[in-house]
Order: sequence, then C-alpha cells, then structure tokens
Amino acid sequence: ARPIVAVVGRPNVGKSTLFNRITGGRVAIVEDQPGVTRDRLYRHAQWGEREFTLVDTGGLELGGAEDNVFSGGTRLQAEAAIAEADVIVFLVDGRQGLTAGDEAIAELLRRSKKPVFLVPNKVEDFSKPERYMEFYSLGLGEPIPISASHGMNTGDLLDTIVAAL
Ligand code: GDP
Ligand code: MG
Repeated sequence: ARPIVAVVGRPNVGKSTLFNRITGGRVAIVEDQPGVTRDRLYRHAQWGEREFTLVDTGGLELGGAEDNVFSGGTRLQAEAAIAEADVIVFLVDGRQGLTAGDEAIAELLRRSKKPVFLVPNKVEDFSKPERYMEFYSLGLGEPIPISASHGMNTGDLLDTIVAAL
C-alpha cells in the first residue's frame, strides 16, 4: 500500500489549496471501508518516483465556530485522520500567526508521536522569518514556510515529505 500523508489544520489555513496543488485535481479515491471517506478526501499523489496517498482532512472543519476543533465529532475525525497517516503535514496560517486552535491540534499531534511537518502557509514574503518562526514554540520542529496558492516553496516541502516516506 502507498504511504498516507494527511494534511491537517484549522479551517481556512489553505489545506484544500495545498491538496489540489499537489494532486493536480485528479479524481478522488473511493475507499471501500464504510464511513471512512465521509469527511476526508483521498487522492493519489506523485513526486518524482515516489507515490503516496494524500488526505485532505475536511473533517476538522465540521465544528462550525473557528478554532472549535474539538466540538462534536470533529475531535474523533482529527484523531482518525492522524491515526491512519504515516506522515502529517500540519498547516497553519503564517499571516494570521499562532492561534489557540493551532495549539490544540499541536497537542494532539505531539501525543500521536507521528512524523509531523509544521508548515506555515500564505507566506508570500520569505524575507520576514519572524512572521512564521513564532510557530517554533509549538515544539514540532522547524517551520517550513510555503505559499500554497502561489506554489512558493511547495517543491521543497514535497522533497522533505517524500524523504520521510
Ligand atoms: P482550508 O479550509 O484549510 O481547506 O483552506 P482553503 O484551501 O479553502 O483556503 C482558504 C482561503 O485561503 C482561500 O481563500 C484561499 O484562496 C486562501 N489561500 C490558500 N492558500 C493561500 C496562500 O498561499 N496565500 C494566500 N494569500 N491565500 C491562500
Ligand atoms: Mg478545505
């Protein structure tokens, strides 16, 4: 089976934008396990010779209110997405800066002991590292800044991801 890379993060940080950029809008995989795909979108992805399954964890957005990632079934959704992943891309908003919702997700991720890449998105100006380096405090390693919508640094991110598979 292909390794699974999950993109997690708060609503509106750019998860689907990154997912579509990496997978090029190919047709989503239909999982045969009942219920599994209800809130997560799976697609084949390839970078160089390496193939993997990329997961867009839309389920984290079901909570309604911004940052309320743990309401209703969304905590279970988040935990299920993390549990099935081999590698996690934790997307945060590099413009907005660190939020309580980021801290809550980071706590789940640290406890999972899975390999996590901390990725501040919407960074169109790489000359101001203080804007995205504050995420260092999450204890998830060195932030890898990208702009998903402009495709900035996304190739380097993919190099880093596939090296971990
Ligand atoms: P999701 O809710 O995490 O899936 O986020 P989306 O992919 O739907 O993006 C949320 C909003 O952020 C949309 O308006 C995107 O156009 C915008 N966005 C996504 N990536 C970037 C980026 O790299 N830079 C900027 N400036 N906006 C972005
Ligand atoms: Mg989305």
